[in-house]
Amino acid sequence: MASAGVGRGRVRVAVVGDVHNDWTLEEDSKALHFLQPDLVLFTGDYGNENVQLVKSISDLQLPKAAILGNHDCWHTYQFSEKKVDRVRLQLESLGEQHVGYKCLDFPTIKLSVVGGRPFSCGGNRIFRPKLLSKWYGVNDMAESAKRIYDAATNAPKEHAVILLAHNGPTGLGSRMEDICGRDWVAGGGDHGDPDLEQAISDLQRETGVSIPLVVFGHMHKSLAYGRGLRKMIAFGANRTIYLNGAVVPRVNHAQSSRQPAISTSEKTGLEGLTGLMVPTSRAFTIVDLFEGAVEKISEVWVTVGDARTELEQELVLYKQPREHI
Ligand SMILES: [Zn+2]
Repeated sequence: MASAGVGRGRVRVAVVGDVHNDWTLEEDSKALHFLQPDLVLFTGDYGNENVQLVKSISDLQLPKAAILGNHDCWHTYQFSEKKVDRVRLQLESLGEQHVGYKCLDFPTIKLSVVGGRPFSCGGNRIFRPKLLSKWYGVNDMAESAKRIYDAATNAPKEHAVILLAHNGPTGLGSRMEDICGRDWVAGGGDHGDPDLEQAISDLQRETGVSIPLVVFGHMHKSLAYGRGLRKMIAFGANRTIYLNGAVVPRVNHAQSSRQPAISTSEKTGLEGLTGLMVPTSRAFTIVDLFEGAVEKISEVWVTVGDARTELEQELVLYKQPREHI
């Protein structure tokens, strides 16, 4: 694939879809430095309130933005002022890089990332309403849409805006294989977030904010009960491209076909184990933008071992002009 997103107007974004405990800072850092993104986006569901893992994501030495998903408040039902809970610890770890209802600017690449509703579980009902109310003062979908809208209007005029949410918006189809389609019931259904759809359509109708890309996860690529694969991109009004990054599981440990050469590497393995790093294959979705418009989107698998980091597979999802492959 093409090399780094360097050069005037050229920007590469790497999406790390729903992690579900499949993240290792050392190996994922190697893979990401190989891919050379200007910005890394995390769609949430790191574990089930896996504070250590979220801390390790915050240690990644690349520009990044993240949002918490429903699994990141899996146990904590209500934020308590007295008791330090794990939702709070995750939010503190991420700091300003948690973009829920916020606009985070990246001036050198003329991009702003605007976050959707944290903790989303999809559908018409707000998940963990007390938590959302206590942290963000948001009590219903209309307020939530307004908060996303307001955050996006804070982006500098010359910036393109990428919306980052845990779950995608309604309005992108109701078949089970659609980008936010309900796959666990026979009849399917649209399981998108209505507040996100509202915010996007209001922004497009009322403001000049340019939204080339909306990134989310939550609805996994593999459909329930072996029903096949989900469509991971969709096209909306105003040249907005919707991207679901939830390739789950995102790490494939079965790399036995290509074992690394036996070496005397001095690298210390994880958790104090010394020796070879067992090669793993790690999924990312890469978005290349040029002058604020999406040029190409690929699902890539990068093999990371002791001695080598290499591209194992690239599945092109979109290439300008619009060819949905
Ligand atoms: Zn989720």
